[in-house]
Amino acid sequence: MSAGERPRAAVIVTGSELLTGAISDRNGPWVARELGELGFEVAHLLLVGDRPDDLADALRFAVDAGCVLVVTSGGLGPTADDLTAEVVASFAGAELVLDEGMREHIGGILAGWAARTGFAGPALEEANRKQAMVPRGAVALAPVGTAPGLVVPRPGGPLVVVLPGPPRELQGMWPAVLEAEPVRELLADVPAAASRSLRFFGLPESEIAATLRDLGTERDLSGVEVTTCLRRSELEVDLRPRPDAADVAAELHGELAARHAKHLVSADGTSTDELLATALLERGWTVATGESCTGGMLASRLIDRAGSSAYAAGGVVAYSNEAKTQLLGVPSEMIEEHGAVSPEVARALADGARERFGADIGIGITGVAGPGGGTAAKPVGYVCFCVTTADGVVLARDPRLPGGRSDVRERSTDLGMHLLLRTVAPRPAG
Ligand code: ATP
Ligand code: MG
Repeated sequence: MSAGERPRAAVIVTGSELLTGAISDRNGPWVARELGELGFEVAHLLLVGDRPDDLADALRFAVDAGCVLVVTSGGLGPTADDLTAEVVASFAGAELVLDEGMREHIGGILAGWAARTGFAGPALEEANRKQAMVPRGAVALAPVGTAPGLVVPRPGGPLVVVLPGPPRELQGMWPAVLEAEPVRELLADVPAAASRSLRFFGLPESEIAATLRDLGTERDLSGVEVTTCLRRSELEVDLRPRPDAADVAAELHGELAARHAKHLVSADGTSTDELLATALLERGWTVATGESCTGGMLASRLIDRAGSSAYAAGGVVAYSNEAKTQLLGVPSEMIEEHGAVSPEVARALADGARERFGADIGIGITGVAGPGGGTAAKPVGYVCFCVTTADGVVLARDPRLPGGRSDVRERSTDLGMHLLLRTVAPRPAG
């Protein structure tokens, strides 16, 4: 590694069920993010089946790619297709030896399991023994399930961290990984990540690209890796500087925030949902929802966080016209005159929800999610939003959102959260 670069790491996820498409990988992205936050450059994320030769190839590939750390997931269990410990031992040139203490530890876990399930006998004894085999010189990590994790140094590198496949076990073992002596030694040489992120709403990616081009004419930005990613209708911009470019990243961060202040949600990566929850708690306000086309998705987002009972009063899914009238008091003449999808009805849904729940804020959403039901005046994707407060604030929007039915409903939910945030925590003027 030359000065100014980050040490490289690879993640190798094993499991034939991931290659058949039966399940999707939840470990690779999780480990990659953790490694990135520790300051590694994650160079490769490899997915291999439960075949020893393929795993051995992947390990050699990581060596050739100059990785100082490899984290594997899966294949640590007791069955015949669980071969990771063996393959990694041979990769590190270490023989597998029985760890007596680990055998006893796993034996205790298995005995409890046998007592609960009634499965005992030689098969279990064999499983116990297999899972207690540890490469000589490796550090064994206490099991979260039944399989221990391993930290296996290889002469000349890389350090290999071997973790179990079930995501709960893998994540549960991570703190022990960071505590293991060989990992601590490695981390001592890893420069702090110093990454920064910003979130924008309603800003196209091309605007960020234009700003970067512009700033790039004034200074060298090559030391900062910039990634933009659209998540929940928000543009997330991550800045990952090389160790010698932290000040360039700081400057870039400031420029992006200042030039796009109108669309900035947060300059530290905090999400709209978190900001909304904090703002509602600070003000002591409660919210009620009156939803048509989103069918409760907004209410669901609002109550997603622990402690949401402090600010989520409740909601009504008023899909039919009768429900709008009977449950939320939307006048049927209003629906007849303006149509169920109209700014007027959105406002009446907001007021109705707020009043019926005795909340401080109400939000109404009604739209044409499609694929049918669109007209020239109200095409598919036309959605009316209104937020009203007990003290007379009214915030209304009626955009035409792109995409199919599920896109329209998801984007409507995102926009609903955003409008709530704008109402509870208005931007300073200017
Ligand atoms: P076990 O002792 O449970 O066999 P293991 O370490 O051998 O643990 P695997 O056999 O590779 O792990 O996987 C066990 C189960 O864990 C899989 O069937 C799957 O349900 C889940 N799993 C494994 N890897 C992943 C992954 N990358 N993403 C999501 N789930 C996974
Ligand atoms: Mg297994």
